[in-house]
Amino acid sequence: MSWTDMAINGRILVVDDAMENIQILHAALQDEHEVLFALDGARALDLARTQHPDLILLDAVMPDADGYVLCRELLAAPETADIPIVFVTALSSPEDETRALEAGAADFISKPVNAAVVRARVRTQLTVKRQRDALRALILVDALTGVANRRAFDERLDAEWRRCSRSGLPVALMLVDIDHFKLYNDHYGHPGGDATLVQVAGAMRRAAGRSQDMVARYGGEEFAILLPQLDAHGASGVARRLMAELDHMAIPHAASPTAPHLTASMGIACMVPGEHSFPADLIQVADALLYQAKAGGRNRYRATAGCSAGPDPL
Ligand code: GH3
Ligand code: MG
Ligand code: MG
Repeated sequence: MSWTDMAINGRILVVDDAMENIQILHAALQDEHEVLFALDGARALDLARTQHPDLILLDAVMPDADGYVLCRELLAAPETADIPIVFVTALSSPEDETRALEAGAADFISKPVNAAVVRARVRTQLTVKRQRDALRALILVDALTGVANRRAFDERLDAEWRRCSRSGLPVALMLVDIDHFKLYNDHYGHPGGDATLVQVAGAMRRAAGRSQDMVARYGGEEFAILLPQLDAHGASGVARRLMAELDHMAIPHAASPTAPHLTASMGIACMVPGEHSFPADLIQVADALLYQAKAGGRNRYRATAGCSAGPDPL
């Protein structure tokens, strides 16, 4: 069976001010897809943000909203930018079509619609989106450890920062650096070091187990754990769990001056995003605290006392 024969089921948001048009599209798509609908622009934006449809079928002309404006708005917002939009409209001049494509639409279907054509075009868009999502997932993963890579981390930190800035909740960040890893490589060999990095990444995943937590390879033998909506106290709990995991795993490190087994040092920063603070401040504070943990003897964590609204004075 080739991928073209495979069932591609998606969640489709149909936006049209006329219920009869929604019913026609619903009838055409309901056997293969989950169909959501919105009768106006505000509801469309709300559903797009909260329900994450795979595709939006958008009417160009609605009483309360210009479809082209709505299309630009959806594509400009980070939460909805990756949802393909197909215009379904009675306006069918080349100018209208061009306008839709210039607004960022993925495709254009003229009314009255033909059910088979709609199904085929929807299938094409969903296939393209699946392939794009799969590629995107690949470029966001660290090849060695399977955790998020630096690029994914940077994107998530920006997104969580915005989210927590809207909600007034804290964001905690833990930077983890393995102790004496150069000596580990020297003693056990680079391939052995690689295998150990994979094990340590697993320990971090177990220590930071909430769905919103993100473990990322920050670079080399340094990892970042993003802990949204967690204060310094909660984040310190994650650090203690990670230290307990490493103790329990007891990966031998005969060359370490710190302990007979592999250990790590951690710096934890926590901030409530404010007008005058940026994700880079959070990283800088966590990094300074990591340095303190190293200087203080390694195999320990240092955390900000609470969650400030700006870069903490250290
Ligand atoms: P410290 O306790 O101060 O952190 O000492 P350290 O030796 O861990 O720190 P340093 O920054 O001097 O060395 C980091 C080492 O991590 C050196 C580098 O070869 C190793 N490393 C970085 N990336 C990888 C990797 O992908 N695989 C392996 N095996 N080693 C790596
Ligand atoms: Mg190190
Ligand atoms: Mg390092």
